[in-house]
Formats: sequence, structure tokens, C-alpha cells
Amino acid sequence: MTDAIYPGSFDPVTNGHLDLIDRGSRLFSRLIVAVARNVDKAPLFSAEERVAMLQEQVAGRFANVEVTSFAGLIVEYARQRGVHCLLRGLRTIADFEYEFQMALTNRRLAPDIETVFVMPSLRYSYVSARLIRETVLLGADMSHLIPASVQAKLRARLGTAREGKGGGAS
Ligand code: ADP
Repeated sequence: MTDAIYPGSFDPVTNGHLDLIDRGSRLFSRLIVAVARNVDKAPLFSAEERVAMLQEQVAGRFANVEVTSFAGLIVEYARQRGVHCLLRGLRTIADFEYEFQMALTNRRLAPDIETVFVMPSLRYSYVSARLIRETVLLGADMSHLIPASVQAKLRARLGTAREGKGGGAS
């Protein structure tokens, strides 16, 4: 059994991410969930908020899961941590091309680090944080796809964003 890092933006954490964390925690001796600080898509939640939401979900549930954040190249962070495996999720064929390019780019940068792909349960295979943000913004109840406390934070944040923008949300 080896350790692995599960990197992502987690903006915010969904049940799909948690499904992957559950599977990863059983595959690896230690799973480090690493929130990317430098995402090019301006995140809705700060890195600290994304880490806190993940921590709340994993606390008391997975003994071998750590939640943290990183900036810069994931392979550099993995080397710093002495970890040789990255975990990523593959939902549908649409994920494949991007993940394929990223895995091979990371392999070129760090041949000693492998990317492992895991598929979530079918019921989460269409869930994306972006769609959750959009549907919650439009008033949908998505509590079957995200933790209740995350939905509450999302509603509060999007409500604030709406007020701040005088009714027009982006
Ligand atoms: P990124 O911006 O790095 O793609 P995400 O937070 O969107 O960050 O996703 C992080 C990882 O989790 C990616 O490998 C993605 O494929 C995976 N992932 C996202 N949503 C799901 C889901 N519903 N089921 C399984 N894996 C998922």
C-alpha cells in the first residue's frame, strides 16, 4: 500500500468527490486531499474555505485522509511530500482527454509519479462542482448531490453575490 495525493479545485466539495475519497482511502495507506490554490478559473470559495468544507466532511469518517492545500505544480508538491501517486476521477469520456493530457504532462515533468484514475459510483458520474454552482444559483435543491452544510454555504455565498451585483449573477 502506498500513499496518494488527490488534487483538485473542490469548489465546493460534492458527493462525487467524497465518493472518490472513500474509494481512495480504501486503496491507499494514506490519502492527501490537496486543494489547488492557483486555479485559473476564479474560485467561488477561497482555498481556506474549500479546505474547511472538505475537513468537515472527512472528520471522523476516514482515519487515513488528510486535507490540505498546495500552490504551484502538483508534481513538485508530491515530491515535497514524498508521494509517488496522484489520484484523479474519471466521470465520463468527456473527462478523458483533459485528464489524459494532464497525466502525460505530469509524467513528463516527473516520471517517478504515477496518476491513478478511479471511477465514481454511477449515481455521481454526472456531478460537477460547476453544474452544482449553476443549479443552486438558480434555486435548485441539490442536497442529494452535495452535503447539506455545503449547500447552505453555497446558497449564502451565491445570495451574497447576487445582492452584490444588484440581481445579476455571473
Ligand atoms: P479540477 O479543477 O482539478 O478538475 P475538480 O474539483 O473539478 O478539480 O475535480 C478534482 C478531481 O475530482 C478531478 O479528477 C475530477 O475528475 C474528479 N471529480 C470531480 N467530480 C467528480 C465526480 N462527480 N465523481 C468522480 N470524480 C470527480
